[in-house]
Amino acid sequence: MSNFTNKVAAVTGGAQGIGAATALKLAAGGATVVVLDLNEDGAKETALQISAHPQVVAAGGRAVAAGCDVTDEATVDRVFADLHREFGRLDILVNNAGVTRDNLFFKMERPDWDAVLATNLTSAYLCSRAAQRYMVPARYGRIVSLSSRSALGNRGQANYAAAKAGIQGLTATLAIELGAFNITVNAVAPGYIATSMTAATAERVGSSPEDHQAAVAARTPLGRVGQPEEVAAAVAFFASDDASYVSGQTLYINGGAR
Ligand code: NDP
Repeated sequence: MSNFTNKVAAVTGGAQGIGAATALKLAAGGATVVVLDLNEDGAKETALQISAHPQVVAAGGRAVAAGCDVTDEATVDRVFADLHREFGRLDILVNNAGVTRDNLFFKMERPDWDAVLATNLTSAYLCSRAAQRYMVPARYGRIVSLSSRSALGNRGQANYAAAKAGIQGLTATLAIELGAFNITVNAVAPGYIATSMTAATAERVGSSPEDHQAAVAARTPLGRVGQPEEVAAAVAFFASDDASYVSGQTLYINGGAR
C-alpha cells in the first residue's frame, strides 16, 4: 500500500466508477481526497462512504466533496483556489472526469464532438493549469490523467478517440515542461472497465451489460473485463513516491489485448 499520509489529492469525476475507486485508494493510503464532480450529491455520498471505510480510517485518510463542472474555466479556477486555501497544499491531481457521445463519424453532430472534447480533454488542460499554480511553488506534484485504449482508434468514437489521444500528447508535453519543478505527469489508458459508462454503451448497442462484457471478455487475453479498482491501483502508483522517476508515460490497462 502506497503511503499518501499528509498528501492532498483532487480527483475529478470522482462520484462513481474509476474516479470513486481511485479516491478510495488514495484515501486508504492516508490522503485527504477532494472528490470533484458535476453530480455534487453523488460526490458527497461517495466522500462519506470513503471517509467511513475501515482502511481509510486506519490510515488517517479522509474524503470531502465539491461540486465542479470541469469544463467551466471560472468554476475550475475557483474550486482549486478554494481547496488550496482550505488544505494548504495540492499534491496530486487525477484528471478522470469523462463522457462518451458515440456515433459513426458521418452522423456525429457538432454538439457531441464539442461535449466530448470539452469534458475529456479541455478539462484536463483547465484542471492541470489550475493545479500547477500550487504545485510549482511547492516543487512537488503528481498529475495522472485518464486516456483510453480508444485513443488508438475505435469505431463510433471519433470524438472520444481524439480527446483520449490528446490526453497522451498533453501528458507527454506537461511532463517536459513541469519536470523542472518535480512534478510528474502520466496517463493510464484502460480498455473495457465495468462502470456506468460501459453499461450505457451496452444499452446504446441494444445489449445487456452482462452480454456486452462477455463479448469483450471473449477477445481479451485475460478472459474478462477490468474493474475500477484495477485502474485505481495503477493511478495510485503514478501518484505515489514509488513512481518518482516515472513521467510522460501512458500505461495501457487492457487485460493483455493489443
Ligand atoms: P463514469 O461515467 O462512471 O464516471 C464519470 C464521472 O465523471 C461521473 O461521475 C460524471 O458525473 C463525471 N463527470 C462527467 N462530466 C463531468 C464534468 N463536466 N465535470 C465534472 N464531472 C463530470 O465513467 P468511468 O468511471 O467509466 O470513467 C472514468 C474515466 O475513465 C473517464 O475519463 C473515461 O473516459 C475513462 N475510461 C473509462 C473506461 C471504461 O471502460 N469505463 C475505459 C477507458 C477510459 P455525472 O454522472 O453527473 O455525469
